Amino acid sequence: MTAGAGQSVPAAASRADAVPLDQRLRITEIFHSIQGEADAVGWPTVFVRLTGCPLRCTWCDTTYSFHGGQWHSIDEILAEVGRHGARHVCVTGGEPLSQKRCLVLLRRLCDAGYDVSLETSGALDVAAVDGRVRKVMDLKAPDSGEFKRNRWSNLAHLRAHDQVKFVLAGRADYEWARATVEEHQLAQTCQVLFSPVHASLKPRALAEWILADRLPVRMQLQLHKLLWGDEPGH
Ligand code: SF4
Repeated sequence: MTAGAGQSVPAAASRADAVPLDQRLRITEIFHSIQGEADAVGWPTVFVRLTGCPLRCTWCDTTYSFHGGQWHSIDEILAEVGRHGARHVCVTGGEPLSQKRCLVLLRRLCDAGYDVSLETSGALDVAAVDGRVRKVMDLKAPDSGEFKRNRWSNLAHLRAHDQVKFVLAGRADYEWARATVEEHQLAQTCQVLFSPVHASLKPRALAEWILADRLPVRMQLQLHKLLWGDEPGH
C-alpha cells in the first residue's frame, strides 16, 4: 500500500510490551503527510502504516513494511495520531488487515471523530471493517503477480463511499481491468480508480486508453511521488 511530507514519526520506543497482546499492533511508521491518492487526495492526513503483508506484488513500493516495526498499544497510536491535528487518517501497510486488531483501531479512530480510510490489498476479508471507514481496495491485475489472491467475495461489501483501485503495469493489465469493471458493474457500486505503475506505464498512454474507451473510471497519479519520490515516511 502507498501513502502520500511531512514529519515522519517512526514508531518510537514503546511501553507496549506491558500491554496485553489483544490491545496492541505492530507499526512500521506513523507520519503526517499529504494524501497522494484516492478520493481524499490532497488532504493533510496522518498515515498509520501497519507492519506485514502476505502478498508480494512485483511493483510494491513499500517493501520496507514487510518486516520489523514496533509494538504499540492502540491508546498510544491514538495519542500519536492526535498529536498531528489532522482530520483525515489513513490506515495502510503492508496489508493492515493481516493484523486482526486493525479492526479495533479502525473503530476507535472513527469513534474519535476522524475521517478514516483503509488501504487494503483485496486479498483479505473486509466484511468486518467498520462501515464508517472508506475502504480503498485493490484488485490485483495479472502483472502484479498476485492476481490469484483477489478475494472476489469482498465486492459484496463495498459501499458508495468505497473505492476499488487497479494499479496497471501495461496494456494487458488495462484490458483485464476494463473487462473486470464491466463484468462486475463496479462503477455502479463505488468509485473505480485506475493508476499506472510508476516507471512502467506512461500516464499519458493510460489516459488516452481511458478516453478512447469512455470508461467510467477515475485516473489518478500518486501525488506524493511527484512531491517526494519513494522516500519512506511520505
Ligand atoms: S499488497 Fe502488494 S503493494 Fe500492498 S504492501 Fe503488499 S506486496 Fe506491497
